[in-house]
Amino acid sequence: MDLSIIEKDQYNIGHICTRLQCKRGLADKRAMRFVDAHGNRTDYSFADLERESSCFANILSGFGFVPQDIFFTFLPRMPEQFFAFLGALKAQVICGTMFSNFGEDALLDRLLDSGAKGIITKKSLLRKITRIKHQLPALQYVIVVDGDDLDGEGVYSLKTLVAKTSAEFDAPLTPSGAPSVLHYTSGSTGKPKGVLHQHGSILSQSMTSTAVLGLKPNDIFWCTADQGWVTGTSYGIIGPWCLGVSQVQYGGGYDARAWMRLLEEEQVNVWYSAPTALRMLMREDHEIFENADLSGLRHIFSVGEPLNPEVIHWGRSLLQHDIHDTWFQTETGAIMISNRPGVEIRPGSMGIPVPGMEAAIVGDGGELLPDGELGNLCLKPGWPSMFITYLNNDEIYRQKFRNGWYQTGDTAKRDRDGYFWFMGRSDDVINTAGHLISPFEVESALLEIEEVAESGVIGAPDELLFEKVIAFVNLHKRFTPNTDLELKIRLRVSNKLSSTATPQEIIFCNSIPKNKSGKIMRRVLKARYMGEDPGDTSTMEI
Ligand code: AMP
Repeated sequence: MDLSIIEKDQYNIGHICTRLQCKRGLADKRAMRFVDAHGNRTDYSFADLERESSCFANILSGFGFVPQDIFFTFLPRMPEQFFAFLGALKAQVICGTMFSNFGEDALLDRLLDSGAKGIITKKSLLRKITRIKHQLPALQYVIVVDGDDLDGEGVYSLKTLVAKTSAEFDAPLTPSGAPSVLHYTSGSTGKPKGVLHQHGSILSQSMTSTAVLGLKPNDIFWCTADQGWVTGTSYGIIGPWCLGVSQVQYGGGYDARAWMRLLEEEQVNVWYSAPTALRMLMREDHEIFENADLSGLRHIFSVGEPLNPEVIHWGRSLLQHDIHDTWFQTETGAIMISNRPGVEIRPGSMGIPVPGMEAAIVGDGGELLPDGELGNLCLKPGWPSMFITYLNNDEIYRQKFRNGWYQTGDTAKRDRDGYFWFMGRSDDVINTAGHLISPFEVESALLEIEEVAESGVIGAPDELLFEKVIAFVNLHKRFTPNTDLELKIRLRVSNKLSSTATPQEIIFCNSIPKNKSGKIMRRVLKARYMGEDPGDTSTMEI
């Protein structure tokens, strides 16, 4: 582990990414260039990060936040996202991040389960919070980034707070095991679970940022992931900044020309993106890539979903670069398996474990399986960025460990040269464009619609998104399917959960297959959708 980033047992992520970099002589170095959706650029030095995050730490302390209180960011990509995140961590407040496209139910579940005391958001998103605030007694502080005129009960304008708050803050000495970042992840049953990390995770993030992403001190790094997702915090904030590396953040969405311009004009050296985005680029006019000068680019990486070999071939022919796959998950906090530079790429495989990590394929009985056999992808626990628990759910956390292995929930194979090949999930969780969607959550949102009697939700293969969300819906007898109803269902899921969770296809049917204990048999629905044999249906309710 790279202990050089630590100073006198001070593991505080907020401190290391800001003050420590200044002390190292990087105060005036550009830490971030923020390029907004219109192409306007604003630069922030490490001294700016230090000041802004310290001010935020003081704001939270002034409100009475104490270590291990929970604070959330609910923002689109914008500079305040970074200041708030680092500031909360400086004050040893646990910081969670949420996607700005989350709907009310998604917000409520997370804020309620965590007992969050505060949240920072934007005026345009505030309504989603005010609608649910009466259900959240613990939520006392709502800070609004762009709401000068908004001071009201429990609602504070960031500008007003900043104007009266000091920008000097000394982070308390923070041990490696102190809780740090909180990301909620979806399972196939129950509500989303809060994956809690520790400040010491920074050791894994710094190690993998050099050993896998190959970041060098003078690099410009661009990670396209939203901060609502673990990649957006582990590598969109912590990894580069703990090493004093400068990064670009883009406030716009997917736009092939803007992205290519950004790579070219900002002279990005290392680019970290995702298969769905790369597949979208593959569909664009070749001329966009043929005319792009990517001479500054050294490496391209991908994460979140299987990287199909076609993307690698496309990268080689149109971008003249290899695309390196990386595998990790919210729980692991940092890259665990990768086709990293310097290691021969096997297109279609995720690669080999990162230095210091041990991975294995384990059978359902806990036995290690020989090479070539399909089984559960497991990791030997003990790495610094391993999550420390599921918030309020220690029992489920404990169940993830068996016979000395952490079970990732993915199924995979290992070939005889030690390369790992992703095969799927061992549960029903749907991976659409890199976002994990819980079929249970979508089914629950559907059941709240008055016309819906029962529903079953599955993931089906999709060329672009890897998987798409399919909803089977059985209506109450007095309703008949129609396009208005389809639209209503889609809107309802989007408003309640998120646009990502919204079903791509709605299939109306007369019954949902269930087993004798009433559990939805998604396997049977999937077989029905794929036109395949459903296999053993002996436990099915007739
Ligand atoms: P999340 O916790 O939301 O980051 O999702 C983690 C899950 O995404 C993993 O357990 C895998 O199922 C999937 N995943 C992440 N990276 C890859 C990859 N390189 N190849 C295949 N699946 C991946």
